[in-house]
Parts: sequence; structure tokens; C-alpha cells
Amino acid sequence: MLDRREDRQPELSVVVPVLNESENIRPLLQRLLPVLEANARSFEVIFIDDGSTDDTVDVLRALHSTDRRITAVSFSRNFGKEIAIAAGLDHAAGRAAIIMDADLQHPPETVADFIVKWREGYKNVFAQRRDRYADSPLRRALTHRFYHLFDIFGETNLPPGAGDFRLLDRQAIEAIARMRERARFSKGLYAWIGFKSIGVPYDVAERAAGTSKFSYRKLTRFALDGLMSFSTIPLRVWTYIGFAISFLSLSLAGYFLVRTLLYGIDVPGFASLIVSVTFLSGIQLLSLGILGEYVGRIFAEVKRRPLYLVAERIGGEREHERDLVKHGETQV
Ligand code: UDP
Ligand code: MG
Repeated sequence: MLDRREDRQPELSVVVPVLNESENIRPLLQRLLPVLEANARSFEVIFIDDGSTDDTVDVLRALHSTDRRITAVSFSRNFGKEIAIAAGLDHAAGRAAIIMDADLQHPPETVADFIVKWREGYKNVFAQRRDRYADSPLRRALTHRFYHLFDIFGETNLPPGAGDFRLLDRQAIEAIARMRERARFSKGLYAWIGFKSIGVPYDVAERAAGTSKFSYRKLTRFALDGLMSFSTIPLRVWTYIGFAISFLSLSLAGYFLVRTLLYGIDVPGFASLIVSVTFLSGIQLLSLGILGEYVGRIFAEVKRRPLYLVAERIGGEREHERDLVKHGETQV
């Protein structure tokens, strides 16, 4: 028999960040609900509306009025997918949470495999895409470069092909909830927390309706956040470059000294002067710029602003959630 507490707490929470996805929500639920009904004892689906400007919120309200298992948290503006996921996990009441996109690129049927692995005792079950054919060739190439760089610089190893589509056990959810960083790179956080993990292969589908919400600008920002929150190498590398350049310039000074003593003063090379001056100022600006990137992120973190602001909660009011929202905004 379920006690009253369990009665209110679903076994599974599905977290779906949405930004202008009104056309995709119903088709997603059509495929997702049967899978959940067949595989979970009880569940909730929490949509995090990340400041949509279309009728996404109206659709969510309508869905909640007919099905209480569907709830939503609506942000006061767009905070980005990574923050939407954090909010989803804050609001998830289940013993495990599944994170997935709303555009049906993440096949709901894979959720059944997640649940099997979770029941076997895995706490961090991630979907591993077999390939990236659904992305454009340029995006694929850039993504590839990014993961290559992350491999070299990143201080955490990312499993290949793993993204946000995954199941997290309550223990893993609590671990993620303790990381209140603003420059969020969730993929890194999932890997950083560890726990018993396993990959489940899947094929990425084409986006059902609409277009990707990530511009190349947003992706670049995200890539920088990812690298900088998981590596201090770009900061430290300048020490070595500085040493190398100083060594080089000292050897050159020695060489010029000896040459002047032996052969007297000749007319110094204008070209080499200009090249070395511009090269060095370039290097200095670059290292300052990288320093600035980190300082900017430190500034954003020390301000301790809330990660997100909720404008509206559609359903799902629970005792412990109010604590969690507080926790979300003022965590140590
Ligand atoms: N999304 C979001 N906030 C954003 C951008 C995207 O909540 O600022 C959601 C979006 O609605 C979708 C998921 O994140 O459910 C993945 O976005 P998208 O499909 O545009 O990304 P892609 O598949 O191109 O990586
Ligand atoms: Mg997508």
C-alpha cells in the first residue's frame, strides 16, 4: 500500500525545458504518456517554460486542466536551457527524473530503457546518440571541434555522444541541486557527479516542428562556458607561454650583444621590430582577454543572483517545493 506521502510523490518526474514549442508539446505527450503509463508506477511531467513568446504557456495551462500529472513552471524571461533544466530538477518530486527535449529529437521510447537500467541500480543513465546526422554539417564540425578541445583541456571526462537526455536518480538530482553555478554546462555536471552510470544508445530524430533555438552565437557562448567552468588551463597556459617568450627574447638579446661587439652597430631590421612588437601585443591582449572571460564569470557568480525567477507555477504545489525554490535562490 502507498502511504499518503508516496501518494503525492510520483515515482518519476519528467523534466522538459521548452522555448516556443507549442506545436511540439501535444505530439510529445502523445508518445511519452503511454511509455510512462506502461513503465512507471506514477509520474509527473514538468515543463519549464523558458520565457516563451508564443502560446506555449496557454497550451500547458490547457493540458494541466485536463491532466493533473502535467505541470509547468514558467520563467519570467528566457534564462537558457541549462538553467531551465536546473529549475526542472529543483521542482521534480520523483524518486528519479528524466530530462528530455520537447522537439521529439529524443525518442520517448528510449525512456523505457532508462527505467529498466534505473531499476537495475544505475543512478545516472544517459542516452548516447549513435550519430549527429540531424544537425547541419557546420554545427556537426564545430561540435566535433569543441569535444576535441574539451578532451584536451577539460578536467572532467565526458562520455562520447551523451547529452541532456538522461535519467537521474534522486541521489544524483540532489548532487546536481547543490551546484548553483550560473555559467552552467550540464553535460559536465552530470559527468562530474559520478555515481553508477551507464549509456543507452539511441538515434537522434529530426526536430518535429519549428527550428533549433540555438543560434551559433548562443552555441559559442555555451562552448566557452563549458570549457571555462571545467578547465583552468587557458588561464595557466600563459605562464608557460610567458616563460618561452622571455627565454626567446633573452637569447636574442645575448645574440645581438655579441654580434654588436664583434661587428659593430648595423641598421636594425625594421620588419623584425614591427613583427615582434605586434606579435607580443597580440599575445598580451589575448591573455588579457582570456583573463577577462574568467573574471566576467567570477563577477556573475559572486553577485549571487537567483538562478532563475518563476513568473507562474501551473499545478504541482507541494510542501517541499517551496523549500526547494528558496534553496534555488539562496543556496550557499
Ligand atoms: N530550450 C530552452 N531554452 C533555450 C533554448 C532551448 O528551454 O534558450 C529548449 C527547447 O525548447 C528544446 C530544448 O531546449 O525543448 C532543446 O532545444 P533545441 O531543440 O532548439 O536545441 P538543439 O536540438 O538544436 O540542440
Ligand atoms: Mg532539438
